Amino acid sequence: MISVMTGGDSMKVNYVCTKCGKVEDVTTRAPKCKCGGLWKLQYELPEFDEALIDKDE
Ligand SMILES: [Zn+2]
Repeated sequence: MISVMTGGDSMKVNYVCTKCGKVEDVTTRAPKCKCGGLWKLQYELPEFDEALIDKDE
C-alpha cells in the first residue's frame, strides 16, 4: 500500500529541456541543456490512485 498522504514535499521537480525534451535533475550545475536549450521546471506528481480517494464525504 502506497500512502499518498505524505504532504506536499513528495512532489518531484525536474528540469526539462525546452528544445530537445531531455530531463535533468534540478541539482544539475548545468545552466542549460547540452543542446543549448533552456531548462523549464517540470513537476512530477506522485503516483495517485483514484481508488484511494475517499468518496464518502
Ligand atoms: Zn536539450
